[in-house]
Amino acid sequence: MNNDMNNNVDNNERNSVEKKHKKKTRRISKRISRKILRFLLPIILIFLLICLAVDFFFYYIPKAVNTAENKALKTYAIKQTDKANISDLHLEDGTKLYEMCDFNGKDTELALKWSDLYAMVIFEDNTSIESFNADKENKKVRKRFDKIAYDLAPSFTYIKGNIKVTLTKEVPVTDKEGNVVGIKQETTVISNDTVYYLKTANTIYGTYNYSYEAKTDERTDSEGTWTTTSLQLVNSTVTDENKRLDEYLKKMLKLTEQREVEDTRNEFIQESIGIYTDQENSEWLLDENNNASWGMIGGVDANISADVINAIMKASEKYSIPPWLIMGYCYHESRFIADIMACDDLGKTVKVSAVKNNPEYMNNPRRSLGLMQVTMWSSKCRALGYDPVKEALNPYVQIDVACNELVNIKFKQFNIDPKKVDWKGNGWVEQTWKGCQAYNGLVYYNQSVAKAKEYAFTHYLRTPKGDGIFDIAEKYKLNFQLNKNGGYTKISVWPTPNYYNITSPFGMRIHPTLHVRKLHPGIDIGAPSGAKVISATNGVVIRASNVGDGYGNCVIVRNSAYDCLYGHLSSISVRVGEKIPTGKQIGNVGSTGFSTGPHLHFGISKGDYKNNNWINPLTIVSH
Ligand SMILES: [Zn+2]
Repeated sequence: MNNDMNNNVDNNERNSVEKKHKKKTRRISKRISRKILRFLLPIILIFLLICLAVDFFFYYIPKAVNTAENKALKTYAIKQTDKANISDLHLEDGTKLYEMCDFNGKDTELALKWSDLYAMVIFEDNTSIESFNADKENKKVRKRFDKIAYDLAPSFTYIKGNIKVTLTKEVPVTDKEGNVVGIKQETTVISNDTVYYLKTANTIYGTYNYSYEAKTDERTDSEGTWTTTSLQLVNSTVTDENKRLDEYLKKMLKLTEQREVEDTRNEFIQESIGIYTDQENSEWLLDENNNASWGMIGGVDANISADVINAIMKASEKYSIPPWLIMGYCYHESRFIADIMACDDLGKTVKVSAVKNNPEYMNNPRRSLGLMQVTMWSSKCRALGYDPVKEALNPYVQIDVACNELVNIKFKQFNIDPKKVDWKGNGWVEQTWKGCQAYNGLVYYNQSVAKAKEYAFTHYLRTPKGDGIFDIAEKYKLNFQLNKNGGYTKISVWPTPNYYNITSPFGMRIHPTLHVRKLHPGIDIGAPSGAKVISATNGVVIRASNVGDGYGNCVIVRNSAYDCLYGHLSSISVRVGEKIPTGKQIGNVGSTGFSTGPHLHFGISKGDYKNNNWINPLTIVSH
């Protein structure tokens, strides 16, 4: 009993000692963790700030591409959508057609996308792309892709039309002795090609109707009067908008409320665009060897528009900085996509046009928008007299605000006078890097210039991949020359004077006659047969013939930087070996080779075209 009591006392004492000890260790560990926290917190904060500042674009690139499963599955999805897209093509009288062939390329625009299949499976199974990869061969997903592609296949109705080009010349009338006694008009038919135009498209997004009118264009040059008769698109309407998609989602997910259907549809559309732009926007960054390929700017979605080029040229003049430096920034911030929203909460790049009516997206103050990712910078917009909301997607405003920040704020901070910088040589790199780096918002400059420089020249202005702002700027520098007034002129000219309509952009597309998905290594410019084609650059003609490779009658002009290819010509007016200046006529527009109607295929390759370094011609030429 006593022993027991003693034991109890002992136990009690031991307990209280243990308690004290525990309290003490708790106190110490608290103190230690507080110390660690105090030490770590700034590091964590700095790290987070860097994460925010460094363009988020680069974060999700590796995860989106380059897993073998992902690639194989995507290839399969593309194959199935390609099949679905040509499953119901016909003329108004029911005659079946076997390829998408709209002269204006509307059918390729409205075609079912591979990402639609992904988005639909995600909605159906409540799954994610990552979980697709768990099923190594994706057998289940592939089966679902087959069914969805079949269910959502569009149907296209076409009409037949002609593009007829005639040339009317004044020819002398002679009498029996050969004396000129008058002048008469003589008209010859230069070409008369059959082409197809899209009349109706029944897609998940609605039924699109197009109407056309016969139009005649007349143009006179030294040869005579060229007359082109063709059908031109005059009107388009959409009916039953989203009806097919809504019905499909409703049935698949057993939705009852209209509101639910609408929300699901919007999410589906965003998901599909997200997947599409995520993968498309990241794949083009890497070529087959995983090197940055700067020329393929954004594939189908990111041609540099004439407006963007003009805005850059205007800002270049206003701020006395070269257009190629602005282009370096433009590439870094947005890949030249004026309506891109760099950041949504899921870590995806979203096109503003896709979410414009979604207040949740548009009213988030953390978002930056557009070409230079600056227009949600309200105060900086207002300082220049712009309305930040109304002008949010105006390329002129976006570039003006950015250049003002770069030159009038950051350059000034480091006493950089843009007029005194050696832009012509290589001096500009040393002279401007501090200001250019400051634009990025990273401020460890005060702590150590050397560290800031090291960072700038490995992460931002230059990168190991070669797609830093200075890396890209240097590549664009090749396209400009300083003129006598200290301004910049583009070295090149537009190859088809008076015809500026791009009927098929540079990038991945479904080939109009081979109907497989492949890189379209140039732009197609719609122009009537016989229209003049001039050389966009100077150089030496290295090809002037039809070699049966699909380009038909084809001219290739080589200079120190580029090979320029002009395809499908009706006639050629230069010889191999001929040295030609920029602007010299090299032939006439035609439809020779693999072609569905008269147009100029214009391709630019960096260096020898045989190496297939095709770049978007719109990065070199504009009109
Ligand atoms: Zn082409």
